[in-house]
Amino acid sequence: MTVDFNHLYSERARNLIASDIREILKIMREPDLISFAGGMPNPDTFPISVIGEIAQDVLNDSITESLQYGVTEGHMPLREALADRMRMRGVECEPENILVTSGAQQAVDLTSQLLLDPQACVLTESPTFVAALIGLRGYRVKIHSVSLDEEGIIVDILEEKLKGLHLAGIHPRMLYVIPNFQNPKGVTMSEPRRKKIVDLANEFDFIVLEDDPYYNLRFEGDHIPPIKAFDDSGRVIYASSFSKILSPGMRIGWIVSHRDIIRKITLLKQTSDVSTNVLSQCIAAEYLSKGHLDKQLPKIRELYHRKQKVMLSSLEEYFPSEARWTRPQGGMFLWVELPENIDTQQLQSKALERKVAFIHGSLFFPDGSGRNTMRLSYSHPTDDQIREGIQRLGEVIKEEMRAR
Ligand SMILES: *Cc1c(COP(=O)(O)O)cnc(C)c1O
Repeated sequence: MTVDFNHLYSERARNLIASDIREILKIMREPDLISFAGGMPNPDTFPISVIGEIAQDVLNDSITESLQYGVTEGHMPLREALADRMRMRGVECEPENILVTSGAQQAVDLTSQLLLDPQACVLTESPTFVAALIGLRGYRVKIHSVSLDEEGIIVDILEEKLKGLHLAGIHPRMLYVIPNFQNPKGVTMSEPRRKKIVDLANEFDFIVLEDDPYYNLRFEGDHIPPIKAFDDSGRVIYASSFSKILSPGMRIGWIVSHRDIIRKITLLKQTSDVSTNVLSQCIAAEYLSKGHLDKQLPKIRELYHRKQKVMLSSLEEYFPSEARWTRPQGGMFLWVELPENIDTQQLQSKALERKVAFIHGSLFFPDGSGRNTMRLSYSHPTDDQIREGIQRLGEVIKEEMRAR
C-alpha cells in the first residue's frame, strides 16, 4: 500500500526539496566517472594516524568527559583554542564569544532560526552556496541577491538595493556572505568591501552572517582580516569549520559573535542536539593544542594548489577560447562562464555520457539565472583525471558550440 504523507508534513518540511547535486552525486559512484562535481575534501588530507593516536589518548585521559554529555556552548579547551586563533586573525573575542556547532551548516541553520520568520527579507550573494540556499528557502524567506565580481559582492549594488528596500518599508534581517574563495565562484572579498559591509549593516540595521570555511586554504596572496575584525557593534556573526582543514565527518564548526547572540543561539541548539559531538570536540582540541593543524595545513594547501594549477593549465589547453574562468587564490573550486547560448544543464547529460561530471551554475543562483555557467571542483580527482576530464569536457563544449 502506498501512503502519501505530504498533508502531514510541516510547511518547512514541504518547502525543503532535494538539490540536484545529490542526484549527480549518486551517478558519481560509477567507477570510471571523473567528477568535478562534489565539493568534498580530498581524503589524502585526513591525518588518519594522528587522529587515531589522539582519540586513544583522549579516551585514556578523560574517559568520563569525552563520552559524557557536554555543555551546549562547547568543550572549553576547544573554545579557548578557537578564541586564540580568531584573535590572531584580528577578531577581538573571548571563549564566551564562541559556540561550537555541528559544522558550519548548523551555524547557518541556527542563525536562520535566530533571525528569520517566514517572509523575512534575506540578502545573499549571487551565486551562493547551494546548501545555504536550500536551507533559507525552507524557512520561506524572501531572498534578494547581489552579484559578485572579482572583489566579491558588489557593495554599490548592495547599497542601492538596501536603499530601495528601505523606501519600500522592507527591513532585511540578514546578509549571508562567503568572503574567502567563495563557494561557488572562488572569488575573495576585498578589504574595503568588508569594511563597507559593516558600515551598511550599522546604517540599515541588519546582521551579517560571515561563512568562512576556506580561510586556511589560501595558497597565494595575503590574508585579509575577516569582516568580523571590522565589526564594532556586534552585528557580524562569524562562522567557520574544521570540515575543509581536518575532517568533515567529525562535524565541528564554530560561531563567533556577541555574547547576547551566543546565549540565544545556545538555547536554540540545546533543543536540537544538546551539544556538538563531545568526542570529536576533545580530539579537535588536542589536535590544535599539540600543533598538528599548523603542521598539516601547508600540506593541504600544497595539494589543492597543485591540483588547481593542473586544472588551470588544462583549461587553457582544452577549453574553447570563448570560455572564461576564475583563478581563485585558494579553496577547492573555480567557476567557468561559457558563451551565452550554451546551457550547462543540457551540457551535463552529454558530459555524463562521456563520464565527466560537474555542477551546472544555475543551481547556485537564487533566481535560477547563470544558465551558461558551471562550477568545477579540483579537490578530489587525481592530477591525471583532471587533465583527462577537462579534455573530455572541452570536447563536449566545443561540439555543443558547433551545434548552435
Ligand atoms: C564546505 C562549506 C561549509 C562547511 O560546512 P560544514 O557543515 O562545516 O561541513 C560551509 N559553508 C560553505 C560555503 C562551504 O562551502
